Amino acid sequence: MSRYCKYCKQIISGRTDKKFCDINCRTAFHNSRLNEKETVIQKVNKILRKNRSVLKFVSPQGKTTVRKSLLLNQGFNFHYYTHHYTTKNGNTYTFCYDYGYLELEDQKVLVISKQVK
Ligand SMILES: [Zn+2]
Repeated sequence: MSRYCKYCKQIISGRTDKKFCDINCRTAFHNSRLNEKETVIQKVNKILRKNRSVLKFVSPQGKTTVRKSLLLNQGFNFHYYTHHYTTKNGNTYTFCYDYGYLELEDQKVLVISKQVK
């Protein structure tokens, strides 16, 4: 039975437990796997940065109530955030780095900025 290199797909000769033709294919394969992971991280980082810039854009003074639709129109993605913060009175803010928002009634959000401690 022929075995094929996991990277270049060429037939491998020699030992039957080999997965790559040589060290070069092995290294290239692992590098490409690493790049896939990096790409995922970069995509998420890009969305988070975009979210932060939208929050900053709508709330330059650091505390503003806006409609959710305004954030969405600016390209905000509510599925991505960095963390939550719950205040003493039980309000949970959703943060993208140092900018966060609190969901209010009537499809509105309170956008704030916060110093990172
Ligand atoms: Zn190969």
